Amino acid sequence: MTRPTEIPKNWDMETDVVVIGFGAAGFAASVTAHDLGADVILLEKAPDGAQGGNTRVAGQGYLNLEGADDAHAYLTALCGHFEVPDKMIRAWADEMCKNNDWLLSLGGDPQEHQHQPEGIEFPHLPGAKCVHKFHDGDTYGYGNTWKLFERLTKDRATEGRPLQILYRTPGKELIQNGITGEILGVRAEQEGKQLIIKARKGVVLTCGGFENNQEMIRDYLPGMPYCYTTGSPYLEGDGIKMGLAVGADLWHMNNFAGPALQLKVPEHPTTFSMQPLHFSKEFPGGMVVVGADGKRFADEKYKTCHGKIPRNGVYQPLPTPCPMHMIIDHTLFSAAPLFDTHPRSGWTTVMVRYDWSDDNSVELKKGWIKRADTLPALAKIIGLNAEQLTETVDRWNEMVARGSDDDFGRSLMMSPFKEGPYYAVQLSPTMLNTQGGPRRNEKAEILRPDGNPIPRLYSSGELGSIYSNLYQGAGNIGECLAFGRIAGRNVVAQQPWH
Ligand SMILES: Cc1cc2nc3c(=O)[nH]c(=O)nc-3n(C[C@H](O)[C@H](O)[C@H](O)COP(=O)(O)OP(=O)(O)OC[C@H]3O[C@@H](n4cnc5c(N)ncnc54)[C@H](O)[C@@H]3O)c2cc1C
Repeated sequence: MTRPTEIPKNWDMETDVVVIGFGAAGFAASVTAHDLGADVILLEKAPDGAQGGNTRVAGQGYLNLEGADDAHAYLTALCGHFEVPDKMIRAWADEMCKNNDWLLSLGGDPQEHQHQPEGIEFPHLPGAKCVHKFHDGDTYGYGNTWKLFERLTKDRATEGRPLQILYRTPGKELIQNGITGEILGVRAEQEGKQLIIKARKGVVLTCGGFENNQEMIRDYLPGMPYCYTTGSPYLEGDGIKMGLAVGADLWHMNNFAGPALQLKVPEHPTTFSMQPLHFSKEFPGGMVVVGADGKRFADEKYKTCHGKIPRNGVYQPLPTPCPMHMIIDHTLFSAAPLFDTHPRSGWTTVMVRYDWSDDNSVELKKGWIKRADTLPALAKIIGLNAEQLTETVDRWNEMVARGSDDDFGRSLMMSPFKEGPYYAVQLSPTMLNTQGGPRRNEKAEILRPDGNPIPRLYSSGELGSIYSNLYQGAGNIGECLAFGRIAGRNVVAQQPWH
């Protein structure tokens, strides 16, 4: 195997710029580099048809901010104690105001979301009025999740642009000049064979986060024994490994868009959202969520800010006392499918298209849902203390009768548990995406721990995103587009290394 410090004598392929990962960030970097005259090779780990990463199954909202000064104030406030260099915030604020212009130049059709004020996640913070969420044309709504990406990549942007896209070709290792530290190319793999690609100007890492790497999750996400993704199963922290191997510093590794609580079963790599937990949906019947001690730990129907809830005057991650279970009565079990069969986003619905049974009977048979005639019997099946579970449900029923959840202030689905049988669904912590990765600067250069850039190495997207603490929805795709363009412009400005 070629080591990063050895310069290969023979290259299998040669180009100006190699971009690793074909989501929104890779798309923006490639198109920008191409339009500035560079030859681009885009490496994608997934097969053709499964590319697009989290971007493909996202809600497709992106930010186009109004007023760079307000944007600067808002992101500064979102970061709070988790400070990000001011130059970086400035670059983000300026570029995030230009997303619509860029998409228009590609033939896009930016449409502002309805109910705009509700989309501002932290309206009390300074500068919050800068937030404007957009989608492209008719791409918003159930079943349309792929359209923005498809329209931009297939129909309008990549057509007529001779980008070479190599599917099933994961980037494995960056090739680095051991003396100058410059990145000279990439070692990729295709059908089990090594492919050595020379990048005359540089490499842009856009290969997403570590949502499917449980070891990194345990190492980096605070208090998470495990956590699963609603997004692409191809995101395994490859960019972090490639960056570390050439001396990159890391940042924002402990931040993620989560947690939420969903069902994860071994048969599927990604998770199932449970309808009764959706904040805006009401169903008849009793429902509580309990932790390992059989007690409730939060308002089950609270709309979190991408997993963060206000506690003791600050936003903190929703607690996840694993294993957790959603306990329901027969009225709720019989009311509707427990899986939300019509969500707008997520890999399980958009790509896997799992067809959940209308009466939940198939999933009961599979063992994804457990049933017992009494609460103590259910507690025994799921390994909880029988007395405690009964006490929790009794207390819930008392509070419902009084009309007040004195423990967590829940106000939705205030229904008592009625007769058995009773049911349990094990819930896992889940996330949309991680935010951490190699540290980058305002030029999208990847930095070493000493603050100096690694020459010819850039990044964009959720791999080392700017979000260090609180996250404003639609900020990730907005950042992919903004920093993808910044990375594309700066890598093209490099002189070829030979
Ligand atoms: C269900 C869901 C809904 C969301 N909704 C929104 C939303 O509405 N608005 C918003 O702003 N954000 C949203 N997000 C977050 C957002 O989708 C992501 O943060 C963003 O799309 C990340 O884009 P990216 O280009 O950085 O990475 P991705 O889109 O994940 O693309 C990375 C690509 O790299 C490929 N790859 C991985 N490893 C390698 C390798 N070694 N070599 C080559 N290729 C590799 C992957 O296969 C993938 O195609 C949502 C996320 C989820 C899961």
